[in-house]
Amino acid sequence: MPIDDPVKRKIAQHHLLFKSVCRRCGALNPLKATKCRRCHGKDLRLKKRDLRK
Ligand SMILES: [Zn+2]
Repeated sequence: MPIDDPVKRKIAQHHLLFKSVCRRCGALNPLKATKCRRCHGKDLRLKKRDLRK
């Protein structure tokens, strides 16, 4: 879904992409989380980002 307004686009990207993903159960967690909110595992990675679009 293309968004023309650059400000809205930045906000949307922020909320969609600035997440961390649990390697154990795949749950999305806040960027600053140190533990998974679902399985409480500590193996979190950043969600992959592609900011070109
Ligand atoms: Zn988890």
